[in-house]
Amino acid sequence: MSPFIKKRVAIIGAGIAGLSCASELVKAGFDVHVFDKSKGVGGRMSHRYFQEWEADHGAQYFTVKDPLFSGQVNEWLSAKVIAPWDGRIVSLNRGSIHSIEASTLRYVGVPAMTAPAKYLAQSLNVHTQHTVTELKQINQLWRITTKEQGTFDCAFEYLICAIPSVQARALIGSHSVNLNEICTNVVMLPCWTLIGYFKQPLDLGFDGAFVESSTFSWLARDNTKPGRSLYETWVAQAGNTWSQEHLDLNHYEIEPILLQAFKDLTKLDCDLYQTHLWRYAKLETPSELNFAYDEAIRVGLCGDWLKNSTVEGAWISGHRMAHHLISNT
Ligand SMILES: Cc1cc2nc3c(=O)[nH]c(=O)nc-3n(C[C@H](O)[C@H](O)[C@H](O)COP(=O)(O)OP(=O)(O)OC[C@H]3O[C@@H](n4cnc5c(N)ncnc54)[C@H](O)[C@@H]3O)c2cc1C
Repeated sequence: MSPFIKKRVAIIGAGIAGLSCASELVKAGFDVHVFDKSKGVGGRMSHRYFQEWEADHGAQYFTVKDPLFSGQVNEWLSAKVIAPWDGRIVSLNRGSIHSIEASTLRYVGVPAMTAPAKYLAQSLNVHTQHTVTELKQINQLWRITTKEQGTFDCAFEYLICAIPSVQARALIGSHSVNLNEICTNVVMLPCWTLIGYFKQPLDLGFDGAFVESSTFSWLARDNTKPGRSLYETWVAQAGNTWSQEHLDLNHYEIEPILLQAFKDLTKLDCDLYQTHLWRYAKLETPSELNFAYDEAIRVGLCGDWLKNSTVEGAWISGHRMAHHLISNT
């Protein structure tokens, strides 16, 4: 690519996939604008503050398998935006606790799960609170309309949707039959989450638990992660199938059910609590695609749902999407 003509790319979604894609494209000399509907970046790698308490209520930690991702993880470690979490991880089944092999290295963002995304975003042009509602291609250039700001000033040669499949499909619409079909064939499952806040420290003998035979599939003592406030906070995530079966309940209806399930497991009543529904939490079946691209209209798709529902999978998807564009323009 000529150093004098920067190709302009719009990326919708500032989760880890969109940010990894944007970072690679910027390094290769593209002019990249990232749009996200939220106030901050990170998507499902999210964190919530509540009075003195705080919690990662989306992604809990991440692991590393792929050498490509390992390079990024080393950079994050050097920048001190992630650290290993050496919490006591167990499996929990009807009250019986079993330790899990300690060899898996689990990383978390520091001071919050959003930190690696914020690190990537600091060298990017990110427009938060821009909910993209419409895409139009005029004279081979993409125009973006957002709910908050109307039509964005500049037009883009390339467009990447780094958002969950259902949301991508709504935007792609009839622009691409192929991409539309790829989005349609994906099933993403929800996750109901309870965040319990306690006025006293509570050591249950573990810091994270994969739970069986319960409403919940995961429990974490969030304040044992590095760099967190010491105020006692537990995050309990319901299983995806259970969450799907209870998708139609509202927060008032789900709260007593989640609180009772939490008490059944821990014998504890939360002093304060919040609930959150992740509507598109996890992919049902991993995909081999990595990313998708329609050359005719210069639109790409990336995100965890084109690989697997992990931080690593989402990052790799964005990275591969970027390198496809870099190699083919
Ligand atoms: C409850 C839960 C627990 C998890 N636990 C783990 C775990 O322990 N370990 C692990 O590795 N992974 C875990 N994951 C999965 C991991 O969080 C995701 O795979 C990964 O963060 C997905 O990144 P992404 O960039 O593909 O999508 P997202 O993070 O969803 O990013 C998409 C972004 O697009 C934005 N957006 C959507 N629509 C629009 C629009 N129209 N306009 C503008 N912006 C838009 C959203 O605001 C969001 O920021 C968990 C996920 C959930 C929900």
